[in-house]
Amino acid sequence: MTKHSEDMNTELQALYSQLPSIDRLLREDAFQPLLANYGAHLVTETLRQLQIEAREAIRDEQQMPSWCNDWVSALQQRVLKEGVSGLKPVLNLSGTVLHTNLGRAPMAESAITAVTQSMRHAVTLEYDLGSAGRGHRDKCISDLLCELTGAEAACIVNNNAAAVFLILSTLAANREVVVSRGELVEIGGSFRIPDVMRQAGCQLVEVGTTNRTHLNDYRQAINEQTGLLMKVHTSNYAIQGFTAAVDEQELVALGQQHRLPVVTDLGSGSLIDMQQYGLPAEPMPQSLIAAGVDLVCFSGDKLLGGPQAGIIVGKHRWIEQLQSHPLKRALRVGKMTLAALEATLQLYRQPDRLTTMLPSLRLLTREQEHIKTSAVRLLTQLTETYGAQFHLADEACWSQIGSGSLPIDRLPSWAITFTPKDGKGRTLEALVDRWRALPVPVIGRLQDGKLWLDLRCLENESALLEAILS
Ligand SMILES: *Cc1c(COP(=O)(O)O)cnc(C)c1O
Repeated sequence: MTKHSEDMNTELQALYSQLPSIDRLLREDAFQPLLANYGAHLVTETLRQLQIEAREAIRDEQQMPSWCNDWVSALQQRVLKEGVSGLKPVLNLSGTVLHTNLGRAPMAESAITAVTQSMRHAVTLEYDLGSAGRGHRDKCISDLLCELTGAEAACIVNNNAAAVFLILSTLAANREVVVSRGELVEIGGSFRIPDVMRQAGCQLVEVGTTNRTHLNDYRQAINEQTGLLMKVHTSNYAIQGFTAAVDEQELVALGQQHRLPVVTDLGSGSLIDMQQYGLPAEPMPQSLIAAGVDLVCFSGDKLLGGPQAGIIVGKHRWIEQLQSHPLKRALRVGKMTLAALEATLQLYRQPDRLTTMLPSLRLLTREQEHIKTSAVRLLTQLTETYGAQFHLADEACWSQIGSGSLPIDRLPSWAITFTPKDGKGRTLEALVDRWRALPVPVIGRLQDGKLWLDLRCLENESALLEAILS
């Protein structure tokens, strides 16, 4: 060893020995409140980690890191930082209302209350107060669903993808399922109808062509191996021009002739007519039930505006089979989901109050003029802080419904835009990054060299001001 590296070693040893022992720190008066707040285990483990980091810093930089002057605040900061949730609330100003990556629908207050109660207390999940016996888990909301859709029975699973999987596995394992070529949907997140079929053990039989499918195409595909006839709502794309599809009513008649169930995967679906609010038409489960479809499935957290869930409604005899399939146990939902779903469905019994009580519908139906007023109000205050670096403006924009609704169905909205005065993309990206790192991150949309904050989903202006002005 050279003289130099020997000196270095002694120096390092001297620094290492200056690190206080964990025992000594734990005995200090200043640590007693931390021990009381966080408990001995977390405090000791965090100190152990901090000591490892201090030794690494000494080794790499040959000096005591400055934070070692104050172990109390080092520990406090670390505990707080690691206690921050990975599931943070954010301000969704992306312009996509039902944003799958941001958790889709914000929930109604009554649903929030119902979930909280179900968490705190024992509930009648599978307990029938009438007979004091074991009830059926989905029972509490199947009556409500039947009332709203006209169906005979209902079954609730974890999401709509699970609903499709359960239906196919129960009614058509080892059998053929007839679907139109125009409806072999991929809905993102690698959910593709043909893959789900294979996974459920079904043999997919494609009929018709991409743009046109006729009743006769279905008829010719039916044989002894056929398990069911299926329709899938092509929610996220549209085939336009020279098209033909078979409607449910015709398909039901064909199914009945051959004693085959007809199933429709609606994707989103809506329990109310969206056109009355000026929104794009969305098929309604109740119309399909009225047309005689055996089973209809749709999402709980798309246009319905409730929690993540898959809702299956339809004929008693098929629902019974789904309920008793072993997969149902694996796909069933918990009490919190049922509580939120029930409270959300209750709102649909008072349809005239939906646009105020159901947040997703309230946001989707906000008027452009109203959003603009808010943008104009915020613009002045934001310009004071951001005006040096950016050119701020309020501009008309388009929001999207999201969650696999047609990307071409857009809602007129209003945004505040930020254009970097130096014209550099880097300046804009720095702003995006800064807002992403906030305690309440602000999520906008980059487009045409600007950052757009679509204010459709901002119901509380001070939330934005607090987030980006403090
Ligand atoms: C969205 C969608 C699904 C999946 O629903 P999740 O609730 O996201 O699981 C299935 N089928 C169609 C047609 C859809 O649009």
